Amino acid sequence: MTDTIRWDRGDDAVVVLTIDDPARSANTMNAAFVADLETVVDRLEAEKDTITGVVVTSAKKTFFAGGDLDRLGGIGPDQAADVYASSMHLKSLLRRLETLGRPVVAAVNGSALGGGLELALACHHRVVADDPRVEIGFPEVTLGLLPGAGGVVRTVRLLGIAQALLTVLLRGQRLRPAKALEAGLVHQVAPRDELLDRAKAWIAENPNAVQPYDVKGYRIPGGTPAQASFAANLPAFPATLRKELKGAPYPAPRNILAAAVEGAQVDLATAFTIEGRYFTELVTGQIAKNMIKAFFFDLQAANARGTNATPFAKVAVLGAGMMGAAIAYVCAKAGMQVLLKDVTVEAAERGKQYSAKILAKKPFLPGEEILARITPTADPADLAGCDLVIEAVFEDPALKHKVFAEVQDVVAPDALLCSNTSTLPISLLADGVTRQQDFVGLHFFSPVDKMPLVEVIKGAATSDAALDRALGVVRQLKKTPIVVNDSRGFFTSRVIGTFTGEGLLMLAEGVAAPSIEQASLQAGYPAAVLALMDELTLTLPRKIRLAYGDAWTPTPADALIDRMIDEFGRPGRSGGAGFYEYPGGKRDRLWPGLREHFAKPGVDVPFVDMQERMLFAEALESVKCLDEGVLTSVADANVGSILGIGFPGWTGGVLQYINQYDGGLPGFIARSRELAARYGARFEPPALLLRKAEQGEQFV
Ligand code: NAD
Repeated sequence: MTDTIRWDRGDDAVVVLTIDDPARSANTMNAAFVADLETVVDRLEAEKDTITGVVVTSAKKTFFAGGDLDRLGGIGPDQAADVYASSMHLKSLLRRLETLGRPVVAAVNGSALGGGLELALACHHRVVADDPRVEIGFPEVTLGLLPGAGGVVRTVRLLGIAQALLTVLLRGQRLRPAKALEAGLVHQVAPRDELLDRAKAWIAENPNAVQPYDVKGYRIPGGTPAQASFAANLPAFPATLRKELKGAPYPAPRNILAAAVEGAQVDLATAFTIEGRYFTELVTGQIAKNMIKAFFFDLQAANARGTNATPFAKVAVLGAGMMGAAIAYVCAKAGMQVLLKDVTVEAAERGKQYSAKILAKKPFLPGEEILARITPTADPADLAGCDLVIEAVFEDPALKHKVFAEVQDVVAPDALLCSNTSTLPISLLADGVTRQQDFVGLHFFSPVDKMPLVEVIKGAATSDAALDRALGVVRQLKKTPIVVNDSRGFFTSRVIGTFTGEGLLMLAEGVAAPSIEQASLQAGYPAAVLALMDELTLTLPRKIRLAYGDAWTPTPADALIDRMIDEFGRPGRSGGAGFYEYPGGKRDRLWPGLREHFAKPGVDVPFVDMQERMLFAEALESVKCLDEGVLTSVADANVGSILGIGFPGWTGGVLQYINQYDGGLPGFIARSRELAARYGARFEPPALLLRKAEQGEQFV
């Protein structure tokens, strides 16, 4: 009857509404759907007396994908009234559906995320396909938004404030059907081909169904702020949230919390209004735009996936240390046979144990099968037939040359040769092999099984075919690639080095260490800068400095690092002591010696300068990477910075940070010059930035 919603009425007088947007591969809350929903609701109301119930389902692989991000990403503050009105309009349609006076059941055949779950929540009963690929949840918060079509209001009323916040709203969890059932978000999990029968059976048994919260006397589970016992706990909510966000400037969790708590104290219609206002504030703000953009950039990067059809079957992982062991695990998990080679079989066995440990914690994976794919060895002859080599031995060019020389004639004659080096030029390493065209950088991030990014590095001699095959490896491992050209530190190591470098410089200038740590956390970095430096170890910047030789520009941070290592014996976490203390191996407080030896009481760097020195240092270095051709796309910079090196997600990525800075590119340039005048020439805006600003362009 409409373009996006099919109307089928059976002999049982149940109307089955099948959502099937002809214009897209998934159903979304776009204008066409909302208009069709209104037509359908009008007709349901008109024909209500002849109908026994309604089933809502979908003809797509997923049930419903949620909001129309294309549209939401482009809404400015001047459209606030329209956004609010359309959010309220959609809510009124869903409210009319749930107060139709007939039972309405959602037959959730596939994932119901965001708007999809909101639609399902407006039904009286939810039956979900028993398929572990199905995801139920509200990912809005990860895009800087909140579910603005009744999602906050209904989950709070169904689950209670605390449960709704913790299990679905604040962290954007995607729940598998069994978990959604356990959480009380859905009512039944059933085989996909039984969904319709189950829905109809429920309708037959519940002809007078209404929502629980529409029954007189209904109480929100767990209580509301109107009750003394609940009110006494209320101050803990914002405190917990602040702790979790570590002071980072994410507005969505704050608005979700406010909408949930305020909405629980009023009637349903007022709660919808409150939710609508908080939603509008987020949609029209800058941070949601940044985060939605990052989502699209991610898709763009993920689409650069290599065209080779033959998956890799047998990989030689050279080096079974921290990285090699973890790379072996992800390769085995992706179905490859893995030869894990170290200098002794014992060392290689230890590397395999890493996989055993991870798998022991994941009973839902076929652990034994995965483990059986990993063969530890010390003998290069065992690598015969490998079509892929991933090297992860110590960061030493001579050693890397040696291990490639040892294996290159043993593995398959066209095997792809990859190095996981984080700092050495790929072209330099390629010098050590005869097939330089097949040599490519494949830079993983630690912990490899959790970090989604792989930086693929093209050396001077790397062929397009090899690059394509390397992207194929990343696709096979289900990770996201960025492609960069060869240069010392590539993109990620080079840019993160400017972040840690700025933290170290501030410490060397005499800024109090706790302030530096707070500045980085409150800027939105996932780890405080000195804590991160401890993880990376202080010997790393020293090694890099030595590798540069005469080309290194000395900084006051050099002496600070030397003193920390040589005078105080504090090289970082792995050495048992660094900027922090590690009693029993666990990070505790900042080392009090920092105050005594480095802090200078008269030094006063404004807090916002501390934050922006770190953010600007990374953004400016990224512009240089783009200008030098190390980066070839803005998407790679934004995705790589968020997924690989912890650039704050609220910014939308390291180059989007410049676009969205107050005053756009000219505003960013003015501020760069201010920072340059105060803190050093490294903040002078590079030529590419000036050119773009002059031409009125952005980084897109
Ligand atoms: P690691 O010290 O934990 O492991 C290196 C392993 O290589 C050791 O087990 C060692 O026994 C083995 N090895 C040495 N000589 C060998 C040989 N001839 N044949 C086979 N194995 C040999 O080091 P790691 O942290 O795993 O780093 C390995 C590589 O990965 C380095 O190039 C490093 O720059 C890079 N990388 C590290 C990280 C990280 O976070 N640690 C991240 C990305 C890339």
